[in-house]
Amino acid sequence: MATETIERKTLGKVRPHQTQNEGLVFEKSSPGKKAYKLPPLDVPAVDVASALGAAHRQEPAALPELSEIEIIRHFTRLSTWNYAIDLGMYPLGSCTMKYNPRVNEFVARIEGLAEAHPYRPEAQAQGILEVIDLLQKCLIEITGMDTITLQPAAGAHGEFTGILLARAWHESQGNPRKKILIPDSAHGTNPATAAICGYQVENLKSNAEGGIDLEALERQVDEETAALMLTNPSTIGVFESQIHRIADILHAKGALLYMDGANMNALVGKARPGDFGVDVMHLNLHKTFSTPHGGGGPGSGPVACKKFLEPFLPTPVLYTKEDGTKHWDYNRPQSVGRVRAFYGNTGMFIRALAYILANGPDGLRQTTEDAVLNANYVRKKLEDLYELPYKTPSMHEVVFSDKRQAAKGIKTGDIAKRLIDYGFHPYTVSFPLIVPGALMIEPTESESREELDLFIDAMRSIAKEVEESPELVKSAPHSTRVSRLDEVTAARKPVLRWRA
Ligand SMILES: *Cc1c(COP(=O)(O)O)cnc(C)c1O
Repeated sequence: MATETIERKTLGKVRPHQTQNEGLVFEKSSPGKKAYKLPPLDVPAVDVASALGAAHRQEPAALPELSEIEIIRHFTRLSTWNYAIDLGMYPLGSCTMKYNPRVNEFVARIEGLAEAHPYRPEAQAQGILEVIDLLQKCLIEITGMDTITLQPAAGAHGEFTGILLARAWHESQGNPRKKILIPDSAHGTNPATAAICGYQVENLKSNAEGGIDLEALERQVDEETAALMLTNPSTIGVFESQIHRIADILHAKGALLYMDGANMNALVGKARPGDFGVDVMHLNLHKTFSTPHGGGGPGSGPVACKKFLEPFLPTPVLYTKEDGTKHWDYNRPQSVGRVRAFYGNTGMFIRALAYILANGPDGLRQTTEDAVLNANYVRKKLEDLYELPYKTPSMHEVVFSDKRQAAKGIKTGDIAKRLIDYGFHPYTVSFPLIVPGALMIEPTESESREELDLFIDAMRSIAKEVEESPELVKSAPHSTRVSRLDEVTAARKPVLRWRA
């Protein structure tokens, strides 16, 4: 099995010079080589030194010297050493690494949209404004909220914007309040957001099902609580079934319910946060709505909210005149101000809208059902070998722990690295923190039964290896160009650019 899967996914045969010292392979420069050839000068020569004055370089720049084909081969080769969703399953939990349909790319490249300059007068930009307006309407419908801004450039940026809205509203009520409640299962960006917005973070313990402990919540919410930041489904892939009660408890004390909507892949077409008491939330277009991410493209983290937060939305806000034309409103005295240049990452808007329109309501609902089905299929096929710390039904992702394997000295990180040998991107390792040694798996709806079965086979085979030949797992990966990196040094002293 092991060799078969490796064969299936390995990108061509390993050439001897590629497996040796990585440094030697990488360094291709040698003096005097050029990737261009200029014709003889047929105009009067200029004295560059005096023309440039002080700006004239005294020494030539230390640039690599290569021929054109060496450059092409270098980058093409490097690109094949990467893993990508276009090569196979990418089960990175919480990240929703679904397939990005090619038609999105086609639509985003339509000249009139791709070339629309942000300074173009509104009268000449009605097409792209229509796209923005339609996407806003779709997202408002999907979330059940009243209004939206598309400005934020990522999920974390959306959180920041959403909490700024909450803060501005509390201020308008006379008191910005002091603290924000965050469950212990939350994504790290949640506490970071609260702190950056000037709030104290108060930790909220999860109950045995992985949800909010209502009694603890009731004790902790007071007149100084600005909001609860809740991910639903939570980062262990569990739907918060008491969400209505949670909203009521917060609202009774004048606090708001913020929803981290990064996990909307489990809800679209099924349940709407606006209907279950959420006041403000962000979406990750680059997760749920299929725009490239993860070293791919820019993100987009729209913030949807209820009517009472509308006056505080970032400027400008899009509106439609009676004649149907679209315009930007900059005159909004209560606005929190701009959070990004221009209108947001418009290329992402086009892709997300193309995705939404291509699927339609039924397609989106089917997508959600398939995402949940796939996660539960993986869960059922692996739960006899991997420990399942929370038995609550899974939504779009499933979280195991390495408890059984750890007894043999094998940790979640070792299993993840061994998975690379089987031709898969690792799942999310050691997150959420409430599950010690977590294996967080999100297959997404994109994967076929065949691909899921290959993944399941790989995971089962690794569990067997842990029993029979743990060293093989501990020293993985064996099929990559480089094996285990020194992760601490890589994080502390990253080498991010080429030096001569
Ligand atoms: C991905 C994610 C975020 C942050 O989104 P970015 O676009 O990476 O900033 C926040 N919360 C959860 C639960 C996420 O999965």
